[in-house]
Amino acid sequence: MDKIISVSVGEVALKKLNRNYFENKLVKNIRNVIKDLGKANIYKDQGKIFIEIDEDSIETAINRIRKVFGIAYVSPCFRIEKDMDEIKKWALESLKDALKNEDIKTFKVRTKRADKKFYLESPEVSRAVGEYLIENIEDAVVDIRNPDIYVDVDIRKECYVYSRKIKGYGGLPIGTNGEGLLLLSGGIDSPVAGFMMAKRGLRISGVHFHSYPFTSERAEEKVKDLAHILSRYCGNITLYSVNLIDIQKAIKESCPAEEMTLISRRFMMRIAERIANDKEINALVTGESLGQVASQTIDGLNVTNSSVNLPVFRPLIGMDKVDIVDVAKDIETFETSIAPFEDCCSVFLPKHPVIRPKLKDIEESEQALDVETLIQDAVDNLEISQIRP
Ligand code: ATP
Ligand code: MG
Repeated sequence: MDKIISVSVGEVALKKLNRNYFENKLVKNIRNVIKDLGKANIYKDQGKIFIEIDEDSIETAINRIRKVFGIAYVSPCFRIEKDMDEIKKWALESLKDALKNEDIKTFKVRTKRADKKFYLESPEVSRAVGEYLIENIEDAVVDIRNPDIYVDVDIRKECYVYSRKIKGYGGLPIGTNGEGLLLLSGGIDSPVAGFMMAKRGLRISGVHFHSYPFTSERAEEKVKDLAHILSRYCGNITLYSVNLIDIQKAIKESCPAEEMTLISRRFMMRIAERIANDKEINALVTGESLGQVASQTIDGLNVTNSSVNLPVFRPLIGMDKVDIVDVAKDIETFETSIAPFEDCCSVFLPKHPVIRPKLKDIEESEQALDVETLIQDAVDNLEISQIRP
């Protein structure tokens, strides 16, 4: 018997001709998150992925692997001989393990027989193992309809028995869908937006705008902390920091006060697009959600959107704030996001922002600015940090 880790893929399983491509990316991403845990052997067996690693590292590895996109479930499992006595013995061990969790009272044995040459059929295996478990365990009963857990017997090239299943996030492996530049503020929404797009296979880079010295260095650190938490899911993140203060001053001097937020937002988008084009990044990502604040009305979004040509992904567009907060808590960015540090948007914040801006008016106001020079100066002075998990 060997204690190893098994991984069930999610949507990747629906891929047909290019399934190999997705699986290989997934294997590579898994390898990446456990590479500091010592030698690991990763192999595929009929649609599942198995990881052999030092027994002491299994729990740590599982906790990291479950955050890799493309995975439905991760399980610690026993790899054993294809022999009914062995299967029974380790199914019992596996069930005993699972019963350490007091919420678990009922179980059901479930067999998958990918190896059709195995001499018993799946239902026969399940029945025999089930009977053995009932005889040998006192504090659990079988529930065929709605068991608290399944004891899984997986008969493939090798035989695997497991019962604990740790849910992954699903999605597609990072890097299978190009790269996006996330406009990362210090707020609650944008980290969630980055997480959601990364889950669709998008590699993530970040750009943050600050108004130093009007905003503090600690505010910058907060954004790096957020990027750092995100990197547990997204892998390495290149973070571009751009000082917006000169642009904000120019806007304040020459444009109507109520257009401050929108015009700065258009500059953020243009600068982000400039960086993206330069780094061959294919899309921008923001944490905007329809109607959430004055700048995110339909008119506001249109005005912001029309400053750039790259596609802008807004995965939160139809989500309620409470649901966004739930995700933020789940991915552990929430506590950092709510730390009270000033954001660049709070500098020169208008008392009455325009709610139904017209693109024509905004463009007219921008005529007073040397847009190109302002963008170029900001880009020339950006700082780059590499964020690693
Ligand atoms: P968040 O919680 O992400 O800060 P928000 O609800 O505060 O979002 P806004 O301040 O209107 O919303 O920002 C909308 C989006 O614009 C953000 O989700 C983010 O993608 C981008 N953005 C705003 N401020 C910045 C910033 N300082 N740096 C980078 N991107 C920003
Ligand atoms: Mg914000």
